[in-house]
Amino acid sequence: MLKIVKPQIAADPVNIEIEINGLSKVYQTKNSTFQALEDVSLYVKNEEFVSILGPSGCGKSTILRILAGLEDATSGSVKVAGEEVNGPSAKRGMVFQSYTLFPWLTVRENIEFGLKLKGMNAKERKEVSDKYLELVGLERFANSFGKELSGGMKQRVAIARSLANNPEVLLMDEPFGALDAQTKQSMQKLLLDIWKKEKTTIVFITHDIDESIFLSQRIYVMEARPGKIKEEINADLHLFKNGELVDVDRFMRIKKHIISLLKH
Ligand code: ADP
Repeated sequence: MLKIVKPQIAADPVNIEIEINGLSKVYQTKNSTFQALEDVSLYVKNEEFVSILGPSGCGKSTILRILAGLEDATSGSVKVAGEEVNGPSAKRGMVFQSYTLFPWLTVRENIEFGLKLKGMNAKERKEVSDKYLELVGLERFANSFGKELSGGMKQRVAIARSLANNPEVLLMDEPFGALDAQTKQSMQKLLLDIWKKEKTTIVFITHDIDESIFLSQRIYVMEARPGKIKEEINADLHLFKNGELVDVDRFMRIKKHIISLLKH
């Protein structure tokens, strides 16, 4: 049976990494106001992989930017690791759809960027960047520059750079949205491998239903105008084994259900 539960704060508060309660966001434009989010509540457990899925314009990126501290909430509470978010922090790593590497730095220097800012010495930085270069399979490209890399490789660097800072949560805004289908698939598998090894808490924004089911343990499905959580869905990773779909029936049930939610 497909298990569908209403959005709620989980019973085990000790294990909660992200807690959003009654979040609303109103954008003020020159002549009008626009309610982008209305009364959004959600939680993400420590080490959990959660997707936020919904049509373009439903407020997914707004939630992520507020979580990252890049945007203020109009009302409501947004907590990460028990602390109210009130500005950007290295504790929250971000990976965007557009490639955000520093073009004048090599792959290694990009990965070490935040560590250098923190004052870590060169030897320690190299140890950390070696680890994350290996994790994303880019050891041979340590000295390359962004323009020499494919889109998928750039996103690997962006993921390595975020993880090198040892963030409490990784916030990903359609990171594979600009990639071709095959690269996208291999990046999804890589991300799952990384998540299992690193045990990072991940919030992943997407409008791709298959991607959300493939990657996440839970999915928050949103609706637009104003942006709200429509339903919380338990997907589970047992649908897949070594990246291959093994429970086609259950996958299709979840997918059909999400399609019908998005239609209405
Ligand atoms: P999504 O990520 O789901 O595509 P967004 O969070 O980017 O949606 O945007 C939600 C809504 O808020 C959209 O209608 C968008 O036009 C509007 N919006 C986003 N940013 C701003 C802004 N800075 N000023 C005014 N409206 C905005």
